[in-house]
Amino acid sequence: MSELPPCDAFVDGRWVPGSQRFSVKDPFDDALIAEVTDSDDAMIDAAVDAAARAFPGWKRRPGPERGRLLAQLAQRMLSAERRLAELCTRENGKALKESIAEVRYAASFFSWFAGEAERTYGETIPASQPGQRLTVIREPVGPAALITPWNFPYAMLTRKIGAALAAGCTIVAKPAALTPLSALALAQLAETVGIPPGVINIVPAADGGRAGGRLCGAAAIRKISFTGSTQVGMVLMRNAAADLKRVSLELGGNAPFVVLADADIDAAVSGAMVAKFRNTGQSCVAANRFIVDASVADTFTTKLCASVARLVVGRGLDPDVDIGPLVDDASVAKVKRLLEDAIGRGAKVLLGAPPDGKTRLVAPIVLAGITPQMQLWREEIFGPVVAIRTAADEADAIAQANDTEFGLVSYLYTQNGARQIRVAEAMESGMVGVNEGLVSTPQAPFGGIKHSGMGREGSRHGIDDYSNLKYIATRIG
Ligand code: NAP
Repeated sequence: MSELPPCDAFVDGRWVPGSQRFSVKDPFDDALIAEVTDSDDAMIDAAVDAAARAFPGWKRRPGPERGRLLAQLAQRMLSAERRLAELCTRENGKALKESIAEVRYAASFFSWFAGEAERTYGETIPASQPGQRLTVIREPVGPAALITPWNFPYAMLTRKIGAALAAGCTIVAKPAALTPLSALALAQLAETVGIPPGVINIVPAADGGRAGGRLCGAAAIRKISFTGSTQVGMVLMRNAAADLKRVSLELGGNAPFVVLADADIDAAVSGAMVAKFRNTGQSCVAANRFIVDASVADTFTTKLCASVARLVVGRGLDPDVDIGPLVDDASVAKVKRLLEDAIGRGAKVLLGAPPDGKTRLVAPIVLAGITPQMQLWREEIFGPVVAIRTAADEADAIAQANDTEFGLVSYLYTQNGARQIRVAEAMESGMVGVNEGLVSTPQAPFGGIKHSGMGREGSRHGIDDYSNLKYIATRIG
């Protein structure tokens, strides 16, 4: 079994045990993995103080030097890939091959921002008056609070830490209570590359509301970056207003997966398998609503069912498994509720059966005959459920796709070039996959609109959320 990281808070470069601890369990069988320090308010305050003390020194370091440390951290992650992946599967449940992919994806944010640390460029602006020089420089916002969810415990954190450290910010991270070990393993690697004490602090906690509230409310915190549910994101934004802290929010989604009449159906099915089933459907960019032109709906559905039937459900650590358990009982209950509602309102089960609620292993289910009144059409399913509705034509498909308060990602399958542009531009979301079921990559700006949040992570824009522009007007003659 994979070696565990220290199971305490990581504050000012030291592992700090707390008197209270909470259990981290394997979602597959509830086996105890570790008892982790439940950071109390004093530990959270100490972490914020450490981040505030380390900030001036970290900010002064040349960007390329900060970048070199991030590059080393990426390398350490890749060298420890197997151990980190097993740890992730144990606490999150996802298939081991997906955990390996996540470790690589997570490390790629450190590599990417290692480069960006060298390119935090400013500007020189032509002045309208003679004798004046107008320049703009970037300055780090300050100590940042990072709050992350359980579904991608490495990547959601490295996407933030990479950008923050590259910009010159120090951080205090509060990982999800279900998956703190992945974050602690990252802190352990950060120690080995010589990131200075106080630059990275991790405060695991059993009660996210209490710990997250304490952390985000601290006066020294100048930036809050949150990934999680829309509901909590709204609370954090409201609270941040009291002190005008900068806020970025990566929130929930309700992605439409549109297949138009001229789509390459085999490509659409392959894309659907990735977009739907990654992490057992527990992804913010999971395809939630399949909207298929009526003329190709039968062909698409038949082929999709054939692919779905081949998925292997089981314990994530078993090498052949594609679909691990859902993360907790509440997630199983939610999927069960959504399915009962849909079937009760007339949805037709084409493959699989609703979970009995006795195990967290939920086999994939394909449903047709969906109507917009069904709860699974309006809410994030976060499970291996395919819900298919037909569309009359392109305009109907766009109207259906946009009929949601969310706007993270949309998927579109069509072989017509003009249509690809027209429909992608009409879709109300921060990202669009055109004949592509996986859009996430460190080079591109990830983020949503509407109730899916604000701010962008990854790409050259990722630094923006952690930096202030300072304009300097200088009289030079
Ligand atoms: P969540 O309940 O909002 O929790 C996310 C994080 O916030 C956890 O660390 C949680 O701690 C903490 N938290 C809970 N209540 C808080 C409060 N009142 N103040 C401060 N922090 C608080 O979300 P989740 O169920 O873990 O994650 C799933 C959601 O995340 C889905 O909606 C998914 O779409 C979204 N997500 C979005 C993206 C994106 O990039 N847009 C990526 C991944 C996931 P505890 O663990 O202790 O509750």
